Amino acid sequence: MKVKTRFAPSPTGSLHLGSIRTALFSWLYARHCSGEFILRIEDTDRARSTQENVDAIFDGLDWLGLTADGEPYFQSERSERYNEVTEQWLNDGKAYRCYCTKEELNELRENQLERGEKTRYDGRCRDRQAPQAGVEPVVRFRNPVDGEVVVEDRVRGRVVFRNEELDDLIIARSDGTATYNFSVVIDDFDMGVTHVIRGDDHLNNTPKQLNMLEALGAEPPVYAHLPMILGADGSKLSKRHGAIDIRQYREQGYLPEAMLNYLVRLGWSHGDQEVFTVEEMIELFDISDINQSASAFNPEKLLWLNQQHIIAAPAERIGRELVPYLKRTGLDPDDGPPPEHVAEGFRERAETLLHMAQSARYCYEDFEVIEPKAVKKNLRPVILEPLSEVRDRLAALEEWSRENIAETIAAVAASFEINLGKLGQPIRVAVTGGPVSPPIDVTVWLVGQKRVRERLDVAIRMIAARVAASN
Ligand code: GLU
Repeated sequence: MKVKTRFAPSPTGSLHLGSIRTALFSWLYARHCSGEFILRIEDTDRARSTQENVDAIFDGLDWLGLTADGEPYFQSERSERYNEVTEQWLNDGKAYRCYCTKEELNELRENQLERGEKTRYDGRCRDRQAPQAGVEPVVRFRNPVDGEVVVEDRVRGRVVFRNEELDDLIIARSDGTATYNFSVVIDDFDMGVTHVIRGDDHLNNTPKQLNMLEALGAEPPVYAHLPMILGADGSKLSKRHGAIDIRQYREQGYLPEAMLNYLVRLGWSHGDQEVFTVEEMIELFDISDINQSASAFNPEKLLWLNQQHIIAAPAERIGRELVPYLKRTGLDPDDGPPPEHVAEGFRERAETLLHMAQSARYCYEDFEVIEPKAVKKNLRPVILEPLSEVRDRLAALEEWSRENIAETIAAVAASFEINLGKLGQPIRVAVTGGPVSPPIDVTVWLVGQKRVRERLDVAIRMIAARVAASN
């Protein structure tokens, strides 16, 4: 049997982490089994579905590399098929028209509540033949009245539902449009879906869907309902927990593979391994390793993983990806070191691409002032001569390489008999405007020969003025 999974988002909101985790697990399982992964846009709710949300789904999946096989399906284009099954079921007696008015249904509800019963449709139109004047009927599925429906869920285990607890659910609204549970059943059947992997908020829909699949004469797919993702405070992950729209993570400079790595660990594990390449995820992922319990969203861990993936990625690629972030930070990527060099220099110390761009500001743009605390501590009269020597020798370097820079600084430190750090820190403060940067040879190399000379000149003048003032 060829495995076929699907991701079936409703374009009624943004693409958030929970949906992406569902997409990821479905995609991974299909790839792991060399099967197929399809995308189905569940846009039957015309009022709440928007093109913008559809675009965001395509865009997000594309960015993450969760590519679907074949063209995406749109439920809005499949209404003929849903009508066809509705008609067939009406003819076969598997469905019936319901003429109950709102008032009638309300009264039924109130009576049930009064008697302390669970509210549900009582099937009163099952045998009602005559249309009611002025009522556009809905169509209901004739759910079995007794017996049980057993969901053999691959994550949750065996979950048993009693048919008497299930309603005769509406499959077609009075305007003729198909409802969610009905269209999903027909689609999963028509599209040959073998494994339904989705959030466990759908577990209660599964017995209804199984009954309808049986009515279709279909072999039911395997179900795997994923445990919830919780916010750090233990409640269901929601907008309140901050940035949950996938676009926000891209804007903040997360790498797609870091997002996938983070999300795969929300509900799935492989020993105590934390960092996975996408290839490893595909190789190792299996439904049987999905945890039953909910997992909590942890932004610090996501940051940490992002940095791991920044470190692991080729500098050339990180450099390429860095360009838009430099621009957004107001910097001109052409007026400074190649971004690829910045990636090399900063990857150990930047958790996101945006952070990297911000940290590299002094490589592309002059600063107004040096941090006063750093001036006081590091730009002192004793360093005036060694710094001037460094300035002259760096300015005279013919080949601006890290090795030559490192040698130059070491030679000056040796000739003045000071240790390297005592010289490195003043250079750092002079060329970056502050006390923190990558190793000094790398920093100097990135800032570039011309800017280094100019900035050392400024620092030297400052120190000279301090000397003059104290005399
Ligand atoms: N369209 C449904 C949703 O976005 C998912 C349906 C399913 O996976 O069966 O929640």
